[in-house]
Amino acid sequence: MTDVDAYVARSADGPLEPGTVTRRAVGPHDVRIDISWAGICHSDIHTVRGDWGEQTYPLAVGHEIAGVVAEVGAEVTGVAVGDRVGVGCMVGSCRECDNCRAGREQYCVEGFIDTYGAVDRDGSITQGGYSAGIVVDQHFVLSLPEAIPFEKAAPLLCAGITTYSPLRRWGAGPGVRVAVVGMGGLGHMAVKLAVAMGAEVTVLSQTLGKRDDSLRYGAIDHYATSDPATFKELAGSFDLIINTVSASLDFDAYLGLLAFGGTMANVGAPPEPAPVTLFTLFTNQRSFAGSTIGGIAETQEMLEFCAEHGIAPETEVISAEQINDAWERVLKSDVRYRFVIDTSTLGQ
Ligand code: NAP
Ligand code: ZN
Ligand code: ZN
Repeated sequence: MTDVDAYVARSADGPLEPGTVTRRAVGPHDVRIDISWAGICHSDIHTVRGDWGEQTYPLAVGHEIAGVVAEVGAEVTGVAVGDRVGVGCMVGSCRECDNCRAGREQYCVEGFIDTYGAVDRDGSITQGGYSAGIVVDQHFVLSLPEAIPFEKAAPLLCAGITTYSPLRRWGAGPGVRVAVVGMGGLGHMAVKLAVAMGAEVTVLSQTLGKRDDSLRYGAIDHYATSDPATFKELAGSFDLIINTVSASLDFDAYLGLLAFGGTMANVGAPPEPAPVTLFTLFTNQRSFAGSTIGGIAETQEMLEFCAEHGIAPETEVISAEQINDAWERVLKSDVRYRFVIDTSTLGQ
């Protein structure tokens, strides 16, 4: 076991502080990774603040990890010391249930093991990417294509796959009218990915402030949801809505924007239940759906798709001491569009 530098939460409401986390010795199927970059996902904040339930502290969060392989176990194949690799939201699953066998580890019937804040097989609490290193079973290690700039790869491991998976599942492509609700870390990736898939993309944001960016990323339009006229003008006009908003919405109002047979796929994860009026679903035979991250094979597919199409997140690189300020900015929707921590600044 080794202690590595980290930035940790010691309570639900205090600031994150420098600390360490303990990593297990490398087992036969394990890969030890020196972490270079760690993205800041809104889920990190929800988790630490207790939005989704009580946590055990101290806790290092972070599940958008890009780094370099430092050591491999005796039975590891396909990954070598020096390789650039990634780790996303999962570090384990049963590997035997129908979903695991089908490559949908994120829907493992026993529940997948989250990269942070979950009980690991040895009974310890998993610790995430706001740290200098991590030890992960090789099955959950992704290979990073050379074409993707290193620090831009990290956000793909959550924001990228979480939007890629529902876009594929609900058929985003030519002739499909997609609305992306909320243009933050996930939302801006949803726009870029859906555009690359050939869909007709519209952004629904709280204000018009991000309009230029939406159009630059290939959206055909951008509307302000603070303007009630938006909901009248766009009624019944989308085949697929990807909702990435971290807060509760008037879900019926958004469902009213779906055309016949349309689906609202939710990935945003506010703590409250989502009230929906069934009569809104009866109209146009609409579906209200959800999706969580993506499987390991699908994540690798997404990375190759991004490399092939030249897709990368917009990132703002920060040092460890800026993490608390960055969290405040995420909470104010003031990030364009993903903070990435330079983990070489941990422990300084
Ligand atoms: P983010 O960067 O903070 O983006 C969320 C965006 O939602 C904001 O940029 C803002 O966009 C909009 N928004 C925020 N507060 C709002 C409000 N009160 N009303 C309307 N719109 C609001 O967060 P993120 O990292 O993309 O994560 C988004 C959500 O997805 C979080 O809840 C996160 O936990 C969840 N998530 C889920 C999964 C999954 O597997 N399902 C995976 C990762 C993350 P505008 O400025 O454009 O309005
Ligand atoms: Zn995430
Ligand atoms: Zn399973």
